[in-house]
Amino acid sequence: TTETEYELISKNEMLPVYIPREKFSHKGTHGHGLIIGGSYGKIGAVNLASKACLKTGSGLVTAYVPKCGYIPLQTSFPEAMVLTDAEEKYITKIDFDINPTVIGVGVGLGKDESTVKALDEFLDKNKKPLVIDADALNILSENKNLLKKIPAQSVLTPHPKELERLIGKWKDDFDKLDKAKKFSKQYDCILVIKGSHTITIYDEKGYVNTTGNPGMGTAGTGDVLTGMITGLIAQSYSPLNAAVFGVYLHGRAGDIAVDKTGYQALTATNVIDDIGSAFMDLF
Ligand code: AMP
Ligand code: MG
Repeated sequence: TTETEYELISKNEMLPVYIPREKFSHKGTHGHGLIIGGSYGKIGAVNLASKACLKTGSGLVTAYVPKCGYIPLQTSFPEAMVLTDAEEKYITKIDFDINPTVIGVGVGLGKDESTVKALDEFLDKNKKPLVIDADALNILSENKNLLKKIPAQSVLTPHPKELERLIGKWKDDFDKLDKAKKFSKQYDCILVIKGSHTITIYDEKGYVNTTGNPGMGTAGTGDVLTGMITGLIAQSYSPLNAAVFGVYLHGRAGDIAVDKTGYQALTATNVIDDIGSAFMDLF
């Protein structure tokens, strides 16, 4: 077996990854992120992810939600386009006639039987790398026959519980990383292991993030990360670079925000509000 190489990720490692804006670029060249998710009572997750996608620089953002998401999204997020499922409270079919650059799926999705079927059929059609989070991960864990349908180079962003459902219980941190590495290899996916030091695993390498703080242990911060990684892939970052840079920027935004709010009061929206500062802090 080969040794995994671990790299600590801070600003210096990210500067060469950053893609500057070109003077004559426009929203058509900055990509189009599609966020698929939401269910009754969890439309906020899609709101956060799609806002984070836009604030990370995606030229266009569309949210695909059940019908109950239409008014809240159109009201609170005028920059987003919204497509709706035929069903009121959860997604029953993933069907759209737009051509997004990249799709992030799972935030607030729920696990209704018809949503599981919708995800299964969507995975049969879609061949481009996805960003997969939250209930989309849980659906994969509960229907292991779907795992082989994960498009190559997809980015999976489990928190510890979601990771356990995906790769099984681990004995210690070494065992955890070992299992994660095997999973990432087997399904050719980029595995973002979220936590206080988020580690991104791909191709015998582990990228250990150094930004972020315990204030970020609050509702919705994971949804923000999903949107940010989706927004970077929209702008033509490779899925691996998008994952590592997205995790870095997300933590940096949280660090800038927490200086103003304190740990207890930090919200996911505060993190979104400081995405711009996190970019500017690179230089
Ligand atoms: P989720 O559980 O899906 O909402 O994701 C939580 C997000 O907050 C992940 O990106 C975590 O890495 C981040 N986070 C949570 N707790 C901490 C912590 N103590 N230090 C740094 N980041 C954290
Ligand atoms: Mg989450």
